[in-house]
Amino acid sequence: MDYFNERQGLILEYLREKGSASVHEVQQKLGIPTATLYRDIASLVRADRLRRSHGRLHYQQPTEVNLPLANCVMCGAGVNPRTALSIQLNDGRQAAACCPHCGLMYISRQPGVRSALVTDFLYGKMHNVRQAVYVLESQVQICCRPSLLCFANSDDASRFQAGFGGQVLSFEQAMQRLNHMMSLDSGSR
Ligand SMILES: [Zn+2]
Ligand SMILES: [Zn+2]
Repeated sequence: MDYFNERQGLILEYLREKGSASVHEVQQKLGIPTATLYRDIASLVRADRLRRSHGRLHYQQPTEVNLPLANCVMCGAGVNPRTALSIQLNDGRQAAACCPHCGLMYISRQPGVRSALVTDFLYGKMHNVRQAVYVLESQVQICCRPSLLCFANSDDASRFQAGFGGQVLSFEQAMQRLNHMMSLDSGSR
């Protein structure tokens, strides 16, 4: 589930074996140019996989879900871990969206998306965005409007819908409906 490039993978692997090392040591062992290494270290620290202290780098165990600590690429809001999407771009960068509403809007407008994982609303596990099932416009409004929540499968989504309303949709359907609603919305202003 980690989206690190090969070089960052090597850095992590080295530190996992050693537990900790100085930046200099990592640079010597792996032969990574200083500027590149500092960039890699910065992104690994942001992703919570490395910790820096007393001039050394310390390996951090991955937590179950590793979301980049970033704001939503679509609306700029803080990312709610209950509804977050983790988006992998073709150029290797990673982006986050606050909820399926923003995530699907972003994916439909941004051709450079390679893949994305979405957090299911009931269990907090990450799923491939295309295989997840969505509920649009339920009564549960916890992020952007119209509310779009994600579920692991259609059984979960239907049970949720029975209690909180809304429409159960596939990825493609959710993206279409959302884009339609959003274009009506901006047209009326
Ligand atoms: Zn957003
Ligand atoms: Zn949102």
